[in-house]
Amino acid sequence: MEKHKVLIRRCETYDPDRIAAIVREGMEELGVIPEGKVLLKPNVVMAHPEIFPHAFTRKEFLDGVLSAVRSKAGAMKELAVGERSGITVPTRFNFKMAGYLPVLRKHRARIYYFDEVRQVPVELKQEGRLRDLIFVPRPVRECDFLINLPKFKAHPWTRLTLSLKNFIGLQDDRHRLIDHTSFLEHKIADLQEVIQPRFIAIDAITAGQKMMLTPTPFAMGAIVMGTNSCAVDTVGCHMVRVDPQDLIHLKMASERGFGPLNLEEIEVGGDFPLEAVQEKTRDFQFCLERVDEYFPPGGNLTCTVGTFPESHSRDYCWGGCPGALQEAVHILRGFDPQVEQKMKKIRYVVGKVEGPLYLEPHERVIFAGDCTSWEGNLDGEKVKIEPGYRSPAAVDARQTGSNDMLLKIGSALWDCFENRKAPYVHMKGCTLSVAEHVNYLSSLGRVKNPNFDPRLAIPASWAYWQMRASRALNRLFG
Ligand code: SF4
Repeated sequence: MEKHKVLIRRCETYDPDRIAAIVREGMEELGVIPEGKVLLKPNVVMAHPEIFPHAFTRKEFLDGVLSAVRSKAGAMKELAVGERSGITVPTRFNFKMAGYLPVLRKHRARIYYFDEVRQVPVELKQEGRLRDLIFVPRPVRECDFLINLPKFKAHPWTRLTLSLKNFIGLQDDRHRLIDHTSFLEHKIADLQEVIQPRFIAIDAITAGQKMMLTPTPFAMGAIVMGTNSCAVDTVGCHMVRVDPQDLIHLKMASERGFGPLNLEEIEVGGDFPLEAVQEKTRDFQFCLERVDEYFPPGGNLTCTVGTFPESHSRDYCWGGCPGALQEAVHILRGFDPQVEQKMKKIRYVVGKVEGPLYLEPHERVIFAGDCTSWEGNLDGEKVKIEPGYRSPAAVDARQTGSNDMLLKIGSALWDCFENRKAPYVHMKGCTLSVAEHVNYLSSLGRVKNPNFDPRLAIPASWAYWQMRASRALNRLFG
């Protein structure tokens, strides 16, 4: 059986010409000829030159790949770039902040903001799937040639985000948070059935460590290319000495027949030997700590973690609310490194918790998520938090809430205002987004809410209304 080929090429700087030359050579070696409707999917989960400088596929990388695609394409009907950013912020805001717009104009590439276009259902049939139906943007369904352009990053929920995980950015807000729970890995595997990329080029020039929204940069100096997501992700795992078996969505996707999980089944080429990469990434850092360990006792933010409803993940909900809390705190730290010293005392309670919470004076409680339950006394009053968790089988992907950015901010602030004298709030939802955590933490902790920072608030609000208008037009005529 012919082996899948994955190339690791050295590239130390974000020089678009150098990137174009490397990607062109890679496409030639892998026999890649884009044709028909070609859609590039970068990772732009969040972008801002000062606040989120390392979270996204860089514009110079996109520039280089677009040059290579233009020069190697066959009969191309359309060249487009599409994405849905994270934490409910309009994608058009992030494309602007990432510096994509001049690059896309230069290459005459069409833009698809996946939060503005029509979403279409796709029936899933594969053995082991979580759902029978999944929604994706119409341009994804209609494209002939998908090129995946992930950013090489560690991830606090899934360990790494490479080619397979980049598909989470296909879905709009209505559908993205469904199963973004302890079923996140299943969801990533499900998404692979919608479409398979025909070419993958990972921006690993500056990789990201620890977090996905606010990663610590790591000069990896590499571009990874291939034509099979499992093969590319397997090599990506070895580049930072992660056992591919521990990347659960990779294991699941491989078991469903999407590609290899063993290095023996992959031919690794290029001018950057795997051993040399491993030597370079010896100190590459991850963040896979539970929140009750990550936020130590004695701080102003502490966590009590109970048990969780699903049998495959009773002791923790990787993929759900706890990881969103970590990302939210990292965002707050980005705005004020002393934020945890300045905030009012908060206890974050998640899961089914039994017994007293042993709060400190003036410590307030956030009960987080629909799976959370607790019963006891707070400030001398009897409190009972009832669980409202529904398993995936009880959640209909066709009946989803909007997860609108302004609604989320408004409802969180109103909830905190209404409960300003109460010893606790219950954040309802499954899953709770990073954005909701930011709003609740800043409000209850009485620290600055990044949503009101003028660097974000003004351009993001403008982008929000543009997004709403464009979405309305696409509903009518799209
Ligand atoms: S509500 Fe509970 S089960 Fe749902 S994502 Fe949050 S922690 Fe996980």
